[in-house]
Amino acid sequence: TLRLNAMTGWIMWALTSFFRQLGVVAEGMQTIAQPIELADDRDATELQLTDGRIDIRNLSHHYGREAGGLDSIDLTIAPGEKIGLIGRSGAGKSTLVKLLLRFYDAEKGVIEIDGHDIRRVTQDSLRRNIGMVQQDSSLLHRSVRENILYGRPDATEDEVIAAAKQAEAHEFILDLEDPQGRTGYDAHVGERGVKLSGGQRQRVTLARVILKDAPILLLDEATSALDSEVEAAIQSTLYGMMEGKTVIAIAHRLSTIAQMDRILVLDAGRIVEQGSHADLLAQGGLYAQFWARQSGGFLNPEAAE
Ligand code: ADP
Ligand code: MG
Repeated sequence: TLRLNAMTGWIMWALTSFFRQLGVVAEGMQTIAQPIELADDRDATELQLTDGRIDIRNLSHHYGREAGGLDSIDLTIAPGEKIGLIGRSGAGKSTLVKLLLRFYDAEKGVIEIDGHDIRRVTQDSLRRNIGMVQQDSSLLHRSVRENILYGRPDATEDEVIAAAKQAEAHEFILDLEDPQGRTGYDAHVGERGVKLSGGQRQRVTLARVILKDAPILLLDEATSALDSEVEAAIQSTLYGMMEGKTVIAIAHRLSTIAQMDRILVLDAGRIVEQGSHADLLAQGGLYAQFWARQSGGFLNPEAAE
């Protein structure tokens, strides 16, 4: 595997240089960590979502190692159900959402959306049906407008601005000016453009996902880079976005997922507890421990109940 890694590293480097020439490389070095696109199955069909149900059966993924990642996950998510996912750092939370988007094929097990194995549908159609805000959002080295439009290229200017406003991004976007003198939504971001903070990148990504309005929503610590004032302002937008959608939200603050339909606790790659906030507090397990620890700190317990 060492030789394979070296080779993969080289291919990543070559691809990154190539895309950098084209000027489309994402901000930061994140693309390097992203896997190469998997090829579509020869008979891949277009995923047509009917309900938004997710079935995960016996799913394991250890990134080619002995441990780490995910271990034998069985999970059915009903159409429109809102799942909160918590666990220590390294528990496997991000791995789960990445497998759902097919950033990698799982080493073992099956993921189905509305009964369709995600390996048998085109990646285009899979990703069209899923909106995702990542922990560390990367943007295209293009204008802010193009970055938001990426969610739905045929959207109007009014729709782009409305999405940016909902994501609390409109105000700061208006103040942007890149070294070439392009301003506002025309300002380019990244290497030769304006350098955005992590929180600003997260808000542009959020605007993109709001515009996209996909039936399945994956939020991986979607507000982790925001200061608490902006986070509070965006929280109601996030709840609004979830309406009518199937949602998996990975929390960085427990208060943000306390009112979800079901909360899953991942530990060392396995689901060790699940239930409502009240169920899990009553169980007195890991969730209750996390909750007790956070209650003394930065979260407002009233917000949850
Ligand atoms: P979480 O999101 O809960 O913090 P992750 O899903 O990111 O956890 O990671 C779970 C485990 O898998 C960790 O041990 C991590 O080191 C490992 N891991 C994550 N991504 C990779 C990768 N690309 N290659 C190898 N190991 C990885
Ligand atoms: Mg993570």
